[in-house]
Parts: sequence; structure tokens; C-alpha cells
Amino acid sequence: MTAQRNRSQQRIVKLLYDVNRPLSAQEIYVELRQRETPLGLATVYRALESLKLEGAVQVRTLSTGESIYESIDRDQHYLTCLNCGASLPVKDCPVHQLQEKLETSYNFQVFYHNLEFFGLCENCQATHHI
Ligand SMILES: [Zn+2]
Ligand SMILES: [Zn+2]
Repeated sequence: MTAQRNRSQQRIVKLLYDVNRPLSAQEIYVELRQRETPLGLATVYRALESLKLEGAVQVRTLSTGESIYESIDRDQHYLTCLNCGASLPVKDCPVHQLQEKLETSYNFQVFYHNLEFFGLCENCQATHHI
């Protein structure tokens, strides 16, 4: 299935790839404005909804209920510190093979996966002895 992407969708996909970090719809709106390729906020939401169902963007919901979007071409995982909020990128994807296995076993087309690790960073371990 190949979906035809309109210009708004292309701009968002390119932006997410360029910035290489997760952005909320609001932040995407602001970033596009700064790059002088503005889109209306409603257009941003509509484009993100289509891109999500095409598997062209990754979406993750924060504890605040806000959705953040990230490029599909960046298979990136993080170690998140619960104390200071530091987010350390993990070098390799540890579940790449699992994804392929699941696709075969369940005949499910997997677009992307979420995997996050939570705990204390090196600095915070030093100051928060258990
Ligand atoms: Zn920390
Ligand atoms: Zn991964």
C-alpha cells in the first residue's frame, strides 16, 4: 500500500527527520513557522493523523496526555532519569529481531515500536543513595 503524501505531510516528515527529536503538534507548528514553511495548526493535526495511520511517523503519549511525534527513520530508544529528567539515547535497537519475529508469527505489519527505560542517571545515583 503506497499512500500519496500531500505537501503538508511531506513538510512534517522532513521536519521530524531534520530535528531528530520528538515534537508535539504544537512544536511542529512552531518549527514550521520558524522555517518559513508555515502550516495551520488544524492542518498539522490532520496531516499527523494520516501519517500515523500510514506508519510514516511514530507517536508516543506522554504522562501529561500530550502526543509527541518522531521520525520513523530514527529507531531510537532512551534511558530516562526519573529524578533530573535526563534522556540518554541508547546506541542500538535491542528489539529489532523481535519485531521481525512478531511480524511473521502474528502476520502483523509493524510500523514501529516503543521501548523506554526509566531509572536514575549516574549523577542522580550519586546523590540519591537508596
Ligand atoms: Zn538524573
Ligand atoms: Zn528499536
